[in-house]
Amino acid sequence: MFSAKLQDALNRQINHELFSAHLYLSMAAHFETASLSGFAQWMRIQHQEETAHALKLFDFMNDRGGRVTLYSIQQPPVEFESPLSVMQQALEHEQEVTRQIHELYELARAEKDHPTHVMLEWFIVEQIEEEKTATDIVERLKLIGDDGVGLLMIDSTLGARTANPATGDSST
Ligand code: MG
Repeated sequence: MFSAKLQDALNRQINHELFSAHLYLSMAAHFETASLSGFAQWMRIQHQEETAHALKLFDFMNDRGGRVTLYSIQQPPVEFESPLSVMQQALEHEQEVTRQIHELYELARAEKDHPTHVMLEWFIVEQIEEEKTATDIVERLKLIGDDGVGLLMIDSTLGARTANPATGDSST
């Protein structure tokens, strides 16, 4: 039994993942403007990954005979500040997504919906990676402080990130 309550919660999560994709694309646009093309590339791949997360839930809903409902995507911020502040915002966003996934997982367990709770385990592990990656970049940005050369080095490292088109998983 795929309860209406759980389907609704999964549809909301599809919306959260699509908002994440939107948020990161807006951050990519900001970094393009700031001539930090490596940060922009990193955010672009983040955008692809979030879209892949939404589609993973979309496919799961359909495979289970559920009904996908798409909601309007909230407008992401347009103006951003320093690279450190943007990355801190990205980290806080991922911490919020982790909270949402854990809440969904608890609901799936309460509803005794084993397929959903097993599927969500992938997302729980993925969130560990998301938070770790964002934390690493925040920490590196704190280390360099106002050093422009250090910033360009980080930019160059982030620019090397590539996506795996099949899974949305990425190398950095
Ligand atoms: Mg996600």
